[in-house]
Amino acid sequence: MKSFIDGLMKKMTLEEKIGQLNLPGSGDIVTGQAKSSDIGKKIREGKVGGLFNIKSVAKIRDVQKVAVEESRLKIPLIFGMDVIHGYETVFPIPLGLSCSWDMKLIERSAQIAASEASADGICWTFSPMVDIARDPRWGRIAEGNGEDPYLSSQIAKAMVKGYQGDLSKNNNIMACVKHYALYGAAEAGRDYNTTDMSYPRMFNEYLPPYKAAVDANVGSVMASFNDVNGIPATANKFLQTDVLRKQWDFKGFVVTDYTGINEMEAHGLGDLKTVSALALKAGVDMDMVGEGFLTTLQQSLKEGKVTQQEIDNACRLILEAKYKLGLFDNPYKYCDENRAKTEVFSASNRAEARKIAADCFVLLKNQNNILPLKKSGTIALIGPLADAKENMPGTWSVAANFSKAISVLQGLQETAGSNTKILYAQGSFLDNDSLFEQRAGMFGKSFKRDGRTKEQLMQEALNIASQSDVIVAALGESAEMTGESSSRSNIEIPQAQKDLLAALLKTGKPVVLVLFTGRPLAIKWESENVPAILNVWFGGSESGYAISDVLFGDVNPSGKLTTTWPQNVGQVPLYYNHKSTGRPLPEGQWFQKFRSNYLDVSNDPVYPFGYGLSYTTFSYSDVKLSTTPPKGNQTVTATVTVTNTGNKTGKEVVQLYIHDIVGTNTRPVKELKGFQKIELKAGESKTVSFNITSEDLKYYHADMKYDWEPGDFEIMIGGNSKDVKLAKVNWVK
Ligand code: BGC
Repeated sequence: MKSFIDGLMKKMTLEEKIGQLNLPGSGDIVTGQAKSSDIGKKIREGKVGGLFNIKSVAKIRDVQKVAVEESRLKIPLIFGMDVIHGYETVFPIPLGLSCSWDMKLIERSAQIAASEASADGICWTFSPMVDIARDPRWGRIAEGNGEDPYLSSQIAKAMVKGYQGDLSKNNNIMACVKHYALYGAAEAGRDYNTTDMSYPRMFNEYLPPYKAAVDANVGSVMASFNDVNGIPATANKFLQTDVLRKQWDFKGFVVTDYTGINEMEAHGLGDLKTVSALALKAGVDMDMVGEGFLTTLQQSLKEGKVTQQEIDNACRLILEAKYKLGLFDNPYKYCDENRAKTEVFSASNRAEARKIAADCFVLLKNQNNILPLKKSGTIALIGPLADAKENMPGTWSVAANFSKAISVLQGLQETAGSNTKILYAQGSFLDNDSLFEQRAGMFGKSFKRDGRTKEQLMQEALNIASQSDVIVAALGESAEMTGESSSRSNIEIPQAQKDLLAALLKTGKPVVLVLFTGRPLAIKWESENVPAILNVWFGGSESGYAISDVLFGDVNPSGKLTTTWPQNVGQVPLYYNHKSTGRPLPEGQWFQKFRSNYLDVSNDPVYPFGYGLSYTTFSYSDVKLSTTPPKGNQTVTATVTVTNTGNKTGKEVVQLYIHDIVGTNTRPVKELKGFQKIELKAGESKTVSFNITSEDLKYYHADMKYDWEPGDFEIMIGGNSKDVKLAKVNWVK
């Protein structure tokens, strides 16, 4: 590779080198017109390194042809896309996928996404997104893996492996871990907002998932929009060079986020020429959309603001990526029309997506075992999300064909069988405020009003409810109420739907809430008043089938939350791995004067991290430790026996937490350090063991030393972060 790229770079002019760093917005390219488009002209002039979010092998082939036949050096382009949770076969939103706690399943979803995208011309995806998020107001919490650094790191690895596999094959694609860094820590949960945090918190709690992706050999990294301790990530040399390249030994290239360089003008760092030079010098290699590099770097070089070496380094990294993808050997490696016809949205991919989705749903409540439903009698399916195909794939489903997504109504109708009658009513608007509803229904996911009033919608719902044996209420958020630029200051179910739910409960019929959301919602009232709640996130293209599978008990739910669900927005940020403070509450009390608490609400969540029910039940034995007291780098094996105490086969996520009780720094009350998802038949028991070493006890101290300290530790194992069995150990050095 080196000699090939050396040879090529010798032939390149400065302009051509800078051209490789340019990732312009292509707009929609019409098949057959790539040549005559503006972008075609730039490609011909060698001013484009790659393009993104162009869909279809025909269009991509067309554009690639211009690059390899009409540009001077015939350098192929890379084609990226936001293939975040599937391509046309859409999987649950990433926050949903994380709730499976099943790394094989997550890897498989990325593999299928890669195979479909690569069959349609794409060789690079802007995924995985691994921003730790503890603030559900932030809409992009939907795109990540929740609040825990350990779990998110495992997922980062699984996804990179799933996408990239063996890059010499044409059904794998290059991954791009994003948004580096700390994008999820935006103040007040407002998108693009400032982040400012201590280095120990950064390195202990926020950076591990990005590092895990780098360790898994991710090909590229995307710089985030936000500033970090006063310097935008896009110009942050500490992040992009000192940590990423020097500490973590990252060998791929760094791309900005969409106009990330230009936005530094608004951040207040100077004009486009200044900020472009800052970005390059910080370690950014490719400029997405804004063309700051393209339009200013030559001048900056003349003025000595950047060096030839810096431009060459960036250019080399882009060329290396193209080389690793095999594009110099075959620029059309990912342009196989036959694959596009047979491998995209195939029956087998859809069948897998259906299974995967069902494993991501989280059963939050199931009083008196209302669920699973019988396949007989009359079901009243009610709610603005019950017949909303467009909303099933969820945010960032760029390649999805919404008309082919399966709604809850269709899913129930097709799976309920002839003994079950399904009645349907919309019941309410998504939100009474039609302007809010418009903002919550962008990108082809709008909610159409048919002229009926909210009273008429409600009346129709109550009519069908009265004829039913059970009510299934499909309520919550629309797909675009989370995702980019979709932060909310109110994280409850919109009032229109809450009113509907209250009216349905008043009928006295059993009500099952099928809850759509892209964030943890504040559903205290619902958790107290609705007998059964199934959280289905946005389950992807096969949602309706997967939801029916779980509602009817063909699949036993096994998802567990990867975020804490607060009682109200005022508790935010609320996360399980918090510090104790000097004034924790005494056990069993929710308020005491001069303690760390609120006057009006307890510190408890509605649902803790790691929580989720099943149609069966599990019991845990006490924790046994193999070596006490352990010394130095000895391994301690912590073991529990888990028993399925119910009468159905079910899967359980067995979670290991550790608490470092005494040390020189304050430590979280518990931290996830391991998990295993196991399946147990009714009555069956399994022994689950975790090997713990002093590596698991290490952390970044206030002085940034990474080490562990001897002393007492609590080893906790359980089915969620709250209900755990505990053993104590004294670990000596
Ligand atoms: C988002 C990124 C995305 C990019 C390209 C930006 O607005 O922040 O996550 O990859 O657009 O579509």
